[in-house]
Amino acid sequence: MSEQALSSASQVLEARFPIIVYVTNQDLSQLPTSESHGNPWLPFGDRLAYEWARYHYVKLQSSAADIQQGLDLWRATVMMYQADHDSCDGVPWKSAAEMYGTIDAIPVGGVGWTTYRLSYSGPQPTGTLPQWMQETYELNVRDVLSVFEEQLASKEFDGEFEYMPYEEYNEKGSRVYSNLMSGIWAFREALQDTISQDKKTHGAMFVPIIAGSDKTTVSVATGHQEYHPVYASLGNITNTARRGHGNGVVPIAFLPIPKRVDPFQASKRQRKKTAFQMFCRQLYHSCLELVFAPLKPYMMEPKVMKCPDGHFCRTIFGLGPYIADYPEQVYLSGVVSTWCPKCDALPTDLDGSGSHHRSHIKTDLLIKTFNPSVLWDDFGLRHNIVPFTYSFPRADIHELLAPDLLHQLIKGVFKDHLVEWVLEYLHLEHGETVALDIIEDIDRRISAVPPFPGLRRFPDGRDYQQWTGDDSKALMKVFLAAIAGYVPSVMVRCIAAFMDACYIARRNAIDSPSLEHFQDCVETFHQLRTIFIEVGVRISLSLPRQHALKHFYRAIHLFGSPNGLCSSITESKHIRAVKEPWRRSNRYHALTQMLKTILRTDRMTALHRHLEDSGALRGPGPPGFPSGLGNNVPIDLEDLEDDDEAVVPGKSENTSDFDVQLAFRTQHGYPSRLYPLAMYIQQPKFPLVFAQFLYKFSHPDELVAPSTIDECPAFEGAIKVHHSAIATFYAPSDLSGSGGLRRERIRSTPHFFGHPRRDTVFVVVDDSQVGMEALEIGRVLLFFSFEYRRKNFSCALINWFVHTDERDPDTGMWVVKQELDRRGQPTLEVIHVDSIARAAHLLPIYGDSRVPENFHYHCALDSYRTFFVNHYVDHHAHEFIGRD
Ligand SMILES: [Zn+2]
Repeated sequence: MSEQALSSASQVLEARFPIIVYVTNQDLSQLPTSESHGNPWLPFGDRLAYEWARYHYVKLQSSAADIQQGLDLWRATVMMYQADHDSCDGVPWKSAAEMYGTIDAIPVGGVGWTTYRLSYSGPQPTGTLPQWMQETYELNVRDVLSVFEEQLASKEFDGEFEYMPYEEYNEKGSRVYSNLMSGIWAFREALQDTISQDKKTHGAMFVPIIAGSDKTTVSVATGHQEYHPVYASLGNITNTARRGHGNGVVPIAFLPIPKRVDPFQASKRQRKKTAFQMFCRQLYHSCLELVFAPLKPYMMEPKVMKCPDGHFCRTIFGLGPYIADYPEQVYLSGVVSTWCPKCDALPTDLDGSGSHHRSHIKTDLLIKTFNPSVLWDDFGLRHNIVPFTYSFPRADIHELLAPDLLHQLIKGVFKDHLVEWVLEYLHLEHGETVALDIIEDIDRRISAVPPFPGLRRFPDGRDYQQWTGDDSKALMKVFLAAIAGYVPSVMVRCIAAFMDACYIARRNAIDSPSLEHFQDCVETFHQLRTIFIEVGVRISLSLPRQHALKHFYRAIHLFGSPNGLCSSITESKHIRAVKEPWRRSNRYHALTQMLKTILRTDRMTALHRHLEDSGALRGPGPPGFPSGLGNNVPIDLEDLEDDDEAVVPGKSENTSDFDVQLAFRTQHGYPSRLYPLAMYIQQPKFPLVFAQFLYKFSHPDELVAPSTIDECPAFEGAIKVHHSAIATFYAPSDLSGSGGLRRERIRSTPHFFGHPRRDTVFVVVDDSQVGMEALEIGRVLLFFSFEYRRKNFSCALINWFVHTDERDPDTGMWVVKQELDRRGQPTLEVIHVDSIARAAHLLPIYGDSRVPENFHYHCALDSYRTFFVNHYVDHHAHEFIGRD
């Protein structure tokens, strides 16, 4: 942080908050400079040393002791084969510490950490000073200007970076809200500065900074430690790149967390506790102000910076959306808990009409007009908190608080409210014994669903307290079908409306009709949720996290899809920024060690990127060096027989295309001729439907093939059997590569964890239609390939499941049942895999039946007659066959 920025920030803070003062700061970075002298691996001696360090430090995350042991073994190996023991042993380091020294000398990447010590300097009471007034608190921070300078200059984001705010329209002419720069807010901000002709900022590139903080706890057997990291990301990076890349979101600060007030002091005088709490809040805002201070001069005057495309650009910064969960939003905005940080709705009726948006200007006016107790009681405002955003141009925390899908909707409304309320309803309605019995069956219903790529199975017993966001997301996928029949219709419809809203909000791109549908779903949810009052589960529905839904509509217009801003992004960073570095520390003064680990890992990553860009890693390497080492070889599903899904690098030309290919590997042990194969798989009608497929291929204009095999072409060739096919498609709202591509494995195999597994797929039957109208469901009995008239065919033998004309009125899901012929036998057909779109997930419609105790999910598709087509199984499915 520059001296100038520091002193100006310091003056601002001292003028407003006389309570906090800097004691000292210490720079942990000490960036060395080094010349390359033609060795691209510097500061490493050669490729072997570099790869060895990367293998141990980044990949295995070895401890110092393990690194030492590795070096010793390496040295011993060299000695054993070296005739002359006196010469240099060629092992680059004697100790782990030496290797760390080399990593610290990497000249690229990783902006160092600076520690500020802050303490109370306000009026002091007579008598003994409370402990917290004497304490110093450490803020660890990186110079954000350097952090973003480095990010902007990184070629990594070339092609995934929006240089200007834009308006996007789809082929139907509807506005699409997706990346931050596609929203109204970025456009409006840029209009004020970079677009307006009469300003010196005219023509500059607007770079909004997305920030987020999220307290996290690291638990170990011996206790736990809290950390409060702040993360930031360039708002110009696309949503998929922000979620897909490891480096789109970086930790920039660790805020100090003062320990709870000394119990002795608190019990003596409550007033001191209030003073302490106020200090905590001010400390928090002062720290955030310090964190962003280096950007402040360039929020008004442009700074020339290098961009991902390699060009230099006049850049103007601005504070962008801030990601935080509700308790932290309360802290950030200076409102009273239970009030809304974004509007002035009364806590007793948060969703009532007549509320207005909060803003800094309104708050100032209220503070000037009313005394503190009126502010507290009538407006839910703390008079003595000045949010950090006050110190930055154009920033208003009430507007910038971003919608938070993970905490507000998934963990909040779904898990903590709706799931709990349903369980409570069952207890109220049926009494303890029957309720527990029903809940046990609901659990079994959840376990009985067929497997699906990306669908995790629930272990026995629901200990909701321990549930992560991922558990809640997983439960959402299968919950409705499991409770249908056990709770009133209106309750199912209420939860379905909420889930639809939630799934639309989680899309990577939301067009205006979908956004209107989102709003309809929210309104339906608000109307129907009164059922929980009617059945006696709730007295009030005025809940901040449910109320947050009301602000999503506007927030999506402003900031684009919440998918790019969700706290699950910052939450996933905890692993790399907090949990792993914590595990590698010796727990004593852990934070200092953690900051070092973060910095070293960043430098290794930056050097790796640099080596990739320069082509050094593509070389053959030293003699005997394993090929492909060190390169980021994309995970190929082919190699991972157990994996059902993978992300795919690169982009797709047409985002509505599906590509289905049979697995490369063919299965031995099957007869290769048609009739023996039909016998082997116990499908006597296979030869007929196979011949009919060939007939239709030879007669493309004829809709119906002859019903006897004699009228169809004969086939004498060989047939190869495959146990799976791989579908690749554009699914940017789900786990996907930075270009939004995703891959899933569709299985038809006799052995999957000891049982046969025959997956179901969407088959396109009428491509002039959209959604379920264009589709039927097929269950794949066999994937096979053959050559016919010098052409290769990839095919599937399927049973059909046909859908009814209407969706189920409660769950909103399509209903399908197995198609039977006149003799009551399942219909059979051979189709080309090109007509398969992707895997489909069917949920048994349990009706009022109980799932038998030892029921195994592999039997689900054979044991039930009718099924829901699960459009909650992933976001692609929801968009593909959803209701909007
Ligand atoms: Zn509100």
